[in-house]
Amino acid sequence: MTSPTPRGRMSQKRRQHIFSEHCTGHHVAPCCICGQPIHRHDDEWIIEHKRALGLLGKDSNTNCGPAHKACADVKTAQQDIPAIARAKRMAQAGAKKKPARGFQVPAGVVFDWKKRRYVRNIALP
Ligand SMILES: [Zn+2]
Repeated sequence: MTSPTPRGRMSQKRRQHIFSEHCTGHHVAPCCICGQPIHRHDDEWIIEHKRALGLLGKDSNTNCGPAHKACADVKTAQQDIPAIARAKRMAQAGAKKKPARGFQVPAGVVFDWKKRRYVRNIALP
């Protein structure tokens, strides 16, 4: 049995693999938030999604990078959560919005390209 990872959805193996991919030195990789080095064994760090999953970021290794836990907590609180809330608000506003203003073709009328005007659609009863 393995104990759950801090955020519960990433395996230790994948976490270490992503860290290794970002390594610029011996067990050292730059924090993807503050840019300062993280030491694999001495610092508390997590794998951060560079683009949050809630903002349609992919759960792929290329969208991930190691980050100091403290940096990630700040980023989540200050950027991701407001951005996700904003995205949700915009989606809701968009759903309520009326269709784009413009000319609405009345029922039973079609555009006649030869006459270059709208005509009654004689096919309709
Ligand atoms: Zn950092």
